[in-house]
Amino acid sequence: MQPPARYARVIVDRSADREFDYLIPDNLAGRVQVGSRVRLPFRNRASIGTVVDLPDESPVPEASLRPLNAVIGDKPVISPVLIDLARWMADYYCCPVETAMRSVLPQVIRDAELTHKTQLFARLVRPPTAEELAAITRKAPRQAEILAALADSPVPLPVAHVCKECGATHATIQSLVKAGFVATTATAVDRDPYENETFLGDSAQKLTDEQTVCLATVRAAMDIPAAGDRKPVLLYGVTGSGKTEVYLQSIALALERGQTALVLVPEISLTPQTVERFKSRFSQNQLDVAVLHSHLSDGERHDEWHKIHGGKARIVIGARSAVFAPLANLGLIVVDEEHETSYKQEEAPRYQARDLAVLRARLENCTVVLGSATPSIESFHNAQTGKYDLAQLTQRVDDRQLPRIRVVDLRQESQRQKSKGGPLVLSEKLRTAITARLEKKEQTILFLNRRGFATSLVCPACGHVCRCVDCSVSLTFHRAANRLVCHLCGHQASVPRVCPNPMCQDPQIRQAGLGTERVEDVITKVFPQAVIKRMDADAMTKKDAFRETLNAFRTGKIDILIGTQMIAKGLHFPNVTLVGIINADLALHLPDFRAGERTFQLLTQVAGRAGRGEMEGEVFVQSFTPHSPSIQFARHHDFDNYYQQEIDFRNRFDYPPFVHMVLLTVKCSHQERGKFSTETLHRRLKENLPEGATLGDPVPAPLERLKTQYRYHLLLRGRSAFKLSRHVKAVLAKLQLPVDVAVAVDVDPYQLL
Ligand code: ADP
Ligand code: ZN
Repeated sequence: MQPPARYARVIVDRSADREFDYLIPDNLAGRVQVGSRVRLPFRNRASIGTVVDLPDESPVPEASLRPLNAVIGDKPVISPVLIDLARWMADYYCCPVETAMRSVLPQVIRDAELTHKTQLFARLVRPPTAEELAAITRKAPRQAEILAALADSPVPLPVAHVCKECGATHATIQSLVKAGFVATTATAVDRDPYENETFLGDSAQKLTDEQTVCLATVRAAMDIPAAGDRKPVLLYGVTGSGKTEVYLQSIALALERGQTALVLVPEISLTPQTVERFKSRFSQNQLDVAVLHSHLSDGERHDEWHKIHGGKARIVIGARSAVFAPLANLGLIVVDEEHETSYKQEEAPRYQARDLAVLRARLENCTVVLGSATPSIESFHNAQTGKYDLAQLTQRVDDRQLPRIRVVDLRQESQRQKSKGGPLVLSEKLRTAITARLEKKEQTILFLNRRGFATSLVCPACGHVCRCVDCSVSLTFHRAANRLVCHLCGHQASVPRVCPNPMCQDPQIRQAGLGTERVEDVITKVFPQAVIKRMDADAMTKKDAFRETLNAFRTGKIDILIGTQMIAKGLHFPNVTLVGIINADLALHLPDFRAGERTFQLLTQVAGRAGRGEMEGEVFVQSFTPHSPSIQFARHHDFDNYYQQEIDFRNRFDYPPFVHMVLLTVKCSHQERGKFSTETLHRRLKENLPEGATLGDPVPAPLERLKTQYRYHLLLRGRSAFKLSRHVKAVLAKLQLPVDVAVAVDVDPYQLL
């Protein structure tokens, strides 16, 4: 028997990027474990922390160590692997270790205030004698009814339920308790976000030949004993090729081995449809599938977390932060749509959940599958260089054809439609195609990645554009609300009747640019007989609107669905035979080295919504730059050549995956002070830059002002993210910046604005 540990190394919830040692007092001996939450004194205040180590000795002299106050709960909340993951994040993503811990351990668990919801149950403890019953029936008929209900039930009944059935109140039950006939007990129950739904069982499909090969690749990875020898599997399968079926059967393999499985999907595709597929497949074995996403209430999140932590759920499906789900004995991690940029968290800690999934798999000694119809350049490069195993699905299930993609040149089209005025929404070709679908009772999806009615109000006389007062962008006109709205900060303004420029005041001020609201307006006028529905963040504010609209669309009650990226991902509607992309150029001209990649992905994904049933699909892509490579490669479903040109470009100009980048954004509401601080920071970073690293000059960010803050950028590049990150951390630790200057550090950034 080992003597109980005497020292605990702790990450305190609010502390300064350090771990601290504490003494374990005798009364807590043997109860403190790695991963325990503990109460402790910190800087003369009571605080909470997480034990990350039980070292044999401490570098701090024993007399200076303070004892822990208490242990919270009887079980550690976090595993050693997750502790390592948090430490790794702090080091790699250049953030304090407690910030990393904040992601790993959800707020509702850290607070330790929320507990399980309890429900009161009643049971009969002493049946009344015949005489007693007669008396009760006479005096209090409701009490008699309750006694009868409880006598009939072999199990305790929920009090609320009994009261409702018998038309009684809580007080009625209380009198029975007092009389000694009935006892009540409070029992913990789970808040189940899906309690009102039933999931029909669903069994494994017979795999196609290609799927069989892919599953074998996953199985082979699972069979490898040593973590170091096992490679992540990149499942590259065209839209509708049955990737999900491969995931489902891979999960079944893990369960057969007594292991658990974690599935990450982008928040936006965590639709009821997706959840249903997983719940249905695994419902029959009573294996609980836990779901984690950002719309859970605190109570639901607490209960789902405990369901996982307590080992009740063996499959977790969730968005980005679910990569930290406290599953034990992990056998498989699946990252669906691995190319999605929403896996990147855009606030500290700015982690990439896909990359953490790969790391966690290595630490847990389990298999990871990354799946996509449009793999990221980074992941495909890893497959090309042999770091990942590549599994491919080149055909759609049942040999359904990939949709035919036609590119419409908007330059020609706008010449033709010149007389009409207003921005161009619908080309002749797309209009004809929609008409044909309406006649055949088939469905259409129209996609535009921008909400609102017009993207700006512009004065034709003086050129004045209505801008946000706090951000350097124009205000979007929302017609239904009749407001101007900043899409960055939410600032709202009323719509001016004349040009707001006091020198001008021209009444001709007009709307420019195009949003989904306008598309809806035009389409409604052109196709008055069609049922049209818009799906974007503005139209979907009510809680169940998203689900209801999808259901209506699926059951054929809607002819044309108009939407933003909300409808681009993972939806499967067999009756959709036409997809129109209103303007494919929106992403192409952003100052971002991934602009081409994003356009290719978006076009391919949106196009993939067409022709997923018996009927062939058709896609119209409207563009002012129809010959740009990403549009042409997407049009020909030519991933290989797209990848080749993209990787050559990245190589030539030193972009990821050939280098790592670290983007520093300096923010200050005072322009000069911001600029000056950026220059100081630049000078300090320049001194002893890591070997081979480069540092760009200070520049105003493309988005120069956001929420009243001026923004400046510094960009570092180098082979090792760790080295860049440590260098930045060291420089920032020594640098005294004015109090109103903030610096955000983003390692492997996706947002370059
Ligand atoms: P992906 O995830 O690659 O877009 P899905 O997994 O959604 O594709 O599969 C598309 C459709 O094909 C789904 O309706 C699915 O049920 C069906 N499907 C998948 N695999 C098979 C199979 N082996 N046999 C029959 N149908 C299948
Ligand atoms: Zn704004």
